[in-house]
Amino acid sequence: MQFNTDRKNLDDIVSNAKSILLIQDIDGVCIPLVKDPLTRKLDKNYIYAAKNFKDEFYVLTCGEHEGNRGVNRIIERTLKNKIEPKKNGLYFQGLAACGVEFQENDGVINFLGISKKELNFLSNVPKLMQPKFSKIIMDLFPEMEKHKIEYHISKSICETRFSPTINFNSLFDLLENDWEKKKILQNKFKLMMDEIIDEAKSVGLENSFFLHISPNLGKNNSGEILKTATIKDIGSTDIQLLLKGAGKDSGVLCLLNKFIGKKKGIYPFGENFNFRDSPKTIQEKISFCKEFINKKDMPLIIGVGDTITSQKSENGFNYTRGGSDRSFLELIQKIGHEYKIENQILFVDSSYGEVFRPSVNNTGLNGISDPEDILKFDVIFKNGPMEYINWFINASKARFKIKNN
Ligand SMILES: [Mg+2]
Repeated sequence: MQFNTDRKNLDDIVSNAKSILLIQDIDGVCIPLVKDPLTRKLDKNYIYAAKNFKDEFYVLTCGEHEGNRGVNRIIERTLKNKIEPKKNGLYFQGLAACGVEFQENDGVINFLGISKKELNFLSNVPKLMQPKFSKIIMDLFPEMEKHKIEYHISKSICETRFSPTINFNSLFDLLENDWEKKKILQNKFKLMMDEIIDEAKSVGLENSFFLHISPNLGKNNSGEILKTATIKDIGSTDIQLLLKGAGKDSGVLCLLNKFIGKKKGIYPFGENFNFRDSPKTIQEKISFCKEFINKKDMPLIIGVGDTITSQKSENGFNYTRGGSDRSFLELIQKIGHEYKIENQILFVDSSYGEVFRPSVNNTGLNGISDPEDILKFDVIFKNGPMEYINWFINASKARFKIKNN
């Protein structure tokens, strides 16, 4: 399959469009992928370039801004300063935790749509997980010493504020090629997370949360389906507890609302619009935009992501398409079609990192897209995050010039 790496049209748009809204994923796009998220790195010049975009740039990520695993800590580490980012507005503005955690560039955060009861429950989840986790380890690794168990607790239970997660990788490393034991571990962790959902239900939070399994085998009536290990494929590597309604495509509506609201002083969907108010399907989201946003207020949207998948299904006749950036990029593309605006979809090849991904340089778009895929990329950055970061820095300079002339 052919793909375009030529950026001339994109650069013309950046230098000429009156109003641009750049919505960008973070990991794999401006941060190379790594196995241990605590070692993620940012380019200093990228941080300053993001700031120069002013209100034309927002991030949209499933990681979080705050906490010891947050992007804010990477920014502080990169700038070797904890005061400057706040003082000079160098934190990334936009949505994290899959559209739930909004941050201004001075680090002020809000999370509309979440109840106090949900927040309290979320903060308690890592503590609920710990004894269950220890029991699973003691069953499977009866010899393991206490300090080793503590180590794996710290690696495997991610105490993120809005999306507490169990990650299987540190225990998988111990099991090497023993896929049968990995399968047992995956099933036990799935049961453990089901118990957390049951505990939420027992305190009246039956409609608050769902389990997001990565990667998964799609969905059935009881939710996302665990992909258990086989001799050839490691399968699922983590399970997140997420708030119902969280999703990047809803995030696009929230950011569009912010963007127009800041510019015009009137928020088209209302000032407190959040992920829980968002219509569910893509078609409903488009109709919602058309009802509340006039063409003259609609910016040209540039969407950037790296996680898009397409796999031929076992019968060989159709494709299963997924990837956490697919939904929001499809929405941006469709909004462009509806409003007859040349919205741009940019894909960054993140296969250069430590995490296995298909690479456009080796196999073209195989595993990423297919000829019948409705999502089309306008530009592909085939050399990964470094190439994208260079483009981003130049684009930011071009926009800065236009805005300050
Ligand atoms: Mg990504």
